[in-house]
Amino acid sequence: MSNVLAGSEKGEVSAYGWAARDDSGILSPFHFTRRANGDNDITLEILYCGICHTDLHFARNDFGMSIYPMVPGHEIVGKVTKVGGKVTKFSVGDIAGVGGSVGSCGSCSECSEGFYVYCPKMILTYSARCHDGTVTQGGYSDNLVVDQNFAVLIPKSMPLASTAPLLCAGITVYSPLKYHGLTEPGLHLGVVGLGGLGHVAVKFAKAFGMRVTVISTSPSKKKEALERFGADAFLVSRDQQQLQDAVGTMDAIIDTVSANHSIQPLIGLLKTRGKLILLGGPAKPLEVLAMPLLLGRKMIAGSAGGGREEIQEMINFAAKHNITADVEVISMEYVNTAMERLEKNDVKYRFVIDVANTI
Ligand code: NAP
Ligand code: ZN
Repeated sequence: MSNVLAGSEKGEVSAYGWAARDDSGILSPFHFTRRANGDNDITLEILYCGICHTDLHFARNDFGMSIYPMVPGHEIVGKVTKVGGKVTKFSVGDIAGVGGSVGSCGSCSECSEGFYVYCPKMILTYSARCHDGTVTQGGYSDNLVVDQNFAVLIPKSMPLASTAPLLCAGITVYSPLKYHGLTEPGLHLGVVGLGGLGHVAVKFAKAFGMRVTVISTSPSKKKEALERFGADAFLVSRDQQQLQDAVGTMDAIIDTVSANHSIQPLIGLLKTRGKLILLGGPAKPLEVLAMPLLLGRKMIAGSAGGGREEIQEMINFAAKHNITADVEVISMEYVNTAMERLEKNDVKYRFVIDVANTI
């Protein structure tokens, strides 16, 4: 099926992937084209792509901004098969990773500081319009043409399937920990939701030397949280007594929950001046009572990944500390079942599609 660089007269690249056609989110085979490899572009033969919960939100149009047909996928690892004339960061044969963004304006203050993910003109890896009006398509496909400034180098020593989720889950948890100074040994971090993002958050926070408490709806995850990921404590979020005993103990909490839930008890777990950092994207508004925030000078924040330099820094940190995701590697044909299982919170802890071998 793979047809990398077959192309048309304009040098467009033929691509093959699996796309959602409507808000049922059901994926099926899809032939399409990608832009020609420009001077600043690299072309990847995609090897692995993680399934982020955002892919499920987008496939089902939870945020009302999906463009169909849509090939999801923004946890991409691939082999560089072509480099443009002005490419300096990659050579053919390198392993590259691509996350949630593939373009931005390049000149605003956020872009200038390397945080293109916060550029008002940031282009998502899929379901977004490029500068030329074409629609981006993601990594559940055989190839990708991407600007070199939106890809990072993956050390060949890293296990590639379990590294793929770092391109979104990894940077999404690493970036706010750095930004908010939550890298000091001994600080107490709560991690809400032990899923794709959450389990990687525990690993990074432990590598920083933090004390980590997992706050979960799934008692069955306790043993792995403590013994496999190294968390120091595990709270079942539906157990009022456990929450009560932990009131006022945490310097910060990162909330990775994908569904609607109450954040009020989480605010209570924070110390004075504590920070609740929202990373999950529930489709409906969250409710918050102001007074506990006021009286504790507490803060609610959000965060959405990082720029190229920070992603590279995160990958290098992960390589040094042997941090990768715990993955269930699947075939492309299994993707719809994987989406159903993801919705039911039935994955430990990230599905990764073996694209190269199964598409
Ligand atoms: P995931 O693997 O499905 O993990 C989400 C976790 O949330 C689950 O494992 C579960 O953990 C918990 N959870 C699920 N339903 C819940 C409910 N009804 N009430 C309380 N907890 C519940 O998803 P993910 O890929 O980590 O993504 C998590 C969220 O982050 C999604 O909304 C995704 O779109 C968003 N996201 C945001 C960014 C960003 O840039 N900010 C990047 C990537 C993803 P327990 O079993 O431990 O309770
Ligand atoms: Zn993601």
